[in-house]
Amino acid sequence: MNAPKMEEVILEVWDREKIFERSVSGREGAKRYSFYDGPPFATGTPHYGHIVASVMKDVVPRYWTMRGFQVERKWGWDCHGLPIENIAEKALGITRKKDIEAMGVQKFNDFCRSTVLQYVDEWKKVIRRVGRWADMEHSYKTMDRDFMESVWWVFKELWDKGLIYESYRSMHICPRCETTLSQSEVAEGYKDIKDLSVVAKFEIKEQGTGNNEQGMGEEGKTYLLAWTTTPWTLPGNVALAIHRDTVYCEIKNEKLKMKNEEEYSKIKQGEVYVLAKDRLEILGDETYEVVREFKGSDLIGKSYKPLFDCYSKDEKLPNCENGWKIYAAEFVNTEEGTGIVHIAPAFGEDDMELGKKENLPFVQHVNMDGTIKSEVTAFAGRDLSPKAKGKVEEVREIDLDVKKYLDEHSLLFTSEKYPHSYPHCWRCDTPLLNYATSSWFVKVLAIKENALEYAKDIEWVPTHIKEGRFGKWLEGARDWSISRQRYWASVMPIWKCECGEMRVFGSVRELEEASGKEVPDLHKHIVDEITVPCEQCDGVMRRVPDVLDTWFDSGSMPYAEKHYPFENAEKFDAGFPAEFIAEGIDQTRAWFYYLHIIATALKRKSAFHHVIVNGIVLAEDGKKMSKKLKNYPDPMLLFDKYGADAMRLYLLGSPVVAAENLNFSEKEISELERNVFRMLWNSYSFFTLYANVDKWEPKVKSRKSKVESSILDRWIVSELQLLIKEVNKAMEAYELNRAARVFAPFIDHLSNWYIRRNRKRFWKNENDSDKNVAYQTLYDVLVTLSKLMAPFTPFLAEEMYRNLSLRHSREIGNPDVPESVHLTDFPVADESLIDEELNDEMRKARETVRKGLQRRADDGIKVRQPLQVLSIKYDVLEDLLDIIKEEVNVKNIVVNKEQESNVVLDTNITPELRLEGEAREIIRAIQEGRKKAGFNVEDRIALGYSGKEKVFELFGDMIAHEVLATEVVSSEVAEAEYTEATNIEGESFNFWLKRV
Ligand SMILES: [Zn+2]
Ligand SMILES: [Zn+2]
Repeated sequence: MNAPKMEEVILEVWDREKIFERSVSGREGAKRYSFYDGPPFATGTPHYGHIVASVMKDVVPRYWTMRGFQVERKWGWDCHGLPIENIAEKALGITRKKDIEAMGVQKFNDFCRSTVLQYVDEWKKVIRRVGRWADMEHSYKTMDRDFMESVWWVFKELWDKGLIYESYRSMHICPRCETTLSQSEVAEGYKDIKDLSVVAKFEIKEQGTGNNEQGMGEEGKTYLLAWTTTPWTLPGNVALAIHRDTVYCEIKNEKLKMKNEEEYSKIKQGEVYVLAKDRLEILGDETYEVVREFKGSDLIGKSYKPLFDCYSKDEKLPNCENGWKIYAAEFVNTEEGTGIVHIAPAFGEDDMELGKKENLPFVQHVNMDGTIKSEVTAFAGRDLSPKAKGKVEEVREIDLDVKKYLDEHSLLFTSEKYPHSYPHCWRCDTPLLNYATSSWFVKVLAIKENALEYAKDIEWVPTHIKEGRFGKWLEGARDWSISRQRYWASVMPIWKCECGEMRVFGSVRELEEASGKEVPDLHKHIVDEITVPCEQCDGVMRRVPDVLDTWFDSGSMPYAEKHYPFENAEKFDAGFPAEFIAEGIDQTRAWFYYLHIIATALKRKSAFHHVIVNGIVLAEDGKKMSKKLKNYPDPMLLFDKYGADAMRLYLLGSPVVAAENLNFSEKEISELERNVFRMLWNSYSFFTLYANVDKWEPKVKSRKSKVESSILDRWIVSELQLLIKEVNKAMEAYELNRAARVFAPFIDHLSNWYIRRNRKRFWKNENDSDKNVAYQTLYDVLVTLSKLMAPFTPFLAEEMYRNLSLRHSREIGNPDVPESVHLTDFPVADESLIDEELNDEMRKARETVRKGLQRRADDGIKVRQPLQVLSIKYDVLEDLLDIIKEEVNVKNIVVNKEQESNVVLDTNITPELRLEGEAREIIRAIQEGRKKAGFNVEDRIALGYSGKEKVFELFGDMIAHEVLATEVVSSEVAEAEYTEATNIEGESFNFWLKRV
């Protein structure tokens, strides 16, 4: 057996005979089974994650094809978005967005287009080798005009339903990519980092002016202490927030002892500080003097001195009069910080909400690219990005500088490094900024109730994701930010006039008619040039320059892959929703979610019925697979070593197909190859070897004709039917690992029990009818098994099927037998043949044998040495007693329900038993001699011997029968073809063999 070589041959057969194409076209007119492929990027070579997904996406369609459905499998390529743009930037040596503008969007996009499919050939090679059937020749690409036109149609549908709006709000942006990101993109990129946190001192203005009765510091200055983990936002501070019900206190510094002596020395004598009483712990565990306590409401409306004066002096700043005062806010708590929150409305969601509510001035001192504006003279032009030799773990330099500034101006209370989880750009790793900007949204909240309702129709594997990861994400859904300030993507089809008029185009034709221009492509550099006359004024409408979130492409894929509704409307309707999709667990909040949201809005149902979620393949040591560390084997090398079938069955039987992580183990593949594939291959070889010798021919549809069969035949047929039932049940429930795991025990039954117990029926059987039954049974089992395994191990199944079934049917000119196992129908269990009781009894018998043999091994008694009695505690089916006797090699079995142990073996060896044991040794020696001499299994021989006369006296007939000796002499045989001088239990024994 050379699996990799066999697989290569099968691949050629499939190509040559177009088996995949025929497996689809052959089901024309049958019920459709719809499968959506989540398109991969072709910007890198396929890794184990892709192989897992590919195997899942292959086994299910193959199965349903065999179940009689037509399953089209259109391949797709994801072409747009930041992954490609970042690769292009690197290749072009671009570090900033303005470099792209400088080189020209067209040139940049052309470059993206030329790079995006660079690894397609590599992908085709791997996908073919893994045995995945997909139509890669007619693949869809998200950058095709047809695809992008359908995306516009989806957008317009949402627009017409009033589900798209623009809003100015606090978003996460990547300052390097200079674009906003969606909730799920942000959720992807949380990492543990250290930031610099500072507690800054905000001086209350009304010093000693009528504040006495309220106890404000009389002599020195009074400072509010506010804590922040983003010191760079402090120049944008316009207010402080407290909670009205929280108890605050004033503390005096005379006895105040800071943990850090250096910090302590910097604190001026006579200063008074205000912070929440519950937060006094930040001062350390030394003594301090609490001057008085009061409610937060006492602080409301008080003014303080700005830390920086760059904006507070600008009288033209709207709402300036409301700035740099204390406000109450519900979100203020005393879980961390000081209970007093620094408010910068441009850099945080809560801040912005408070700013809107209280009409605070709006100060945005940072540009979208992360540089500080010129108004902040101390830091003008500085960059927020932590660039310390590319290490994002380092705290931002600008934060250190702000700290220094505060310190020099006696505005710093304390500072420390603060470890926390912070979102980073999922593509370029830059820490994100919370940044107030304008963005376009899909009104997910308006359809959330429907989305939750339709989500009930989705069946998940594993089931817990339905209510768990997916359900919770859906519960917490927010409006979807879909606009990106980037280049290589589907674009927003909104045209706007200065008068405020807006028009959304849902097709190429509409835009062509309105503009009078041809629109050959829908990418940014083309459509940005196209203007449309305004219908409300004399003005000109221009496109809103943003592009669309790439997930908008992915979520629109069911419609766009078919260029719906411009083409294929009927086909789309027949295939929506998808019966099945599969992807990794990370897609729960991405592709699965966006498919569902768009389908909810457009079609008022979910986009898919069944979804299998896979986990992550890790290196054997449980670490991430890393190209740099080379801690995992190259998949292509493993295909060459064990074959793709072994890899497929390994992955399919593992928890990775039920959203759990897998520590990849080559050893386990090699064990699987040995214990399952070789075992099956040996059973199959056994059959073909003897069937060829006997020129045995199968009968078509044999099982229907009742034959007189042995208990073992009935049992293996029963086990086979049970296997068929189990596989179907698991596959109908999309539980791939349950389905993949039932084969190994069956193959063990077949090889280590059925065939093992039946060998003699094939080669020493004078009863032709029984021999025929044995052949037919084993033949049916192997052919049925090849069909059952076809979706899982398509190569081995094909090899077995073609050799067993197809070759024969071609020889006898039977055209009804399909040319490939993948063109046959999947087996359906015949429940009438399942005998659960027999299965149980046989399992019990095998277990009894296992224990009996274990006792022998414990006592060091060879299996060939017959023993007298095996005593068991339970009843065993009468017909199976002889089998157990032979296997454990005992003369008798007795049932003794009183005994303590389940199985008791009498290990006393009588002289007669010893002689019989020696007879067995002699038989073994002669059988091996026959093999060494090169005799055929059916050759009859003459046997001569010297020594062990006593054994021959008692067991000569048995020996002759076993070794096919037609004559036995106690002397040398003339012209012997084989001679051996050996030793049986310490006595010399010679024998001579000759064919007769
Ligand atoms: Zn980025
Ligand atoms: Zn207008």
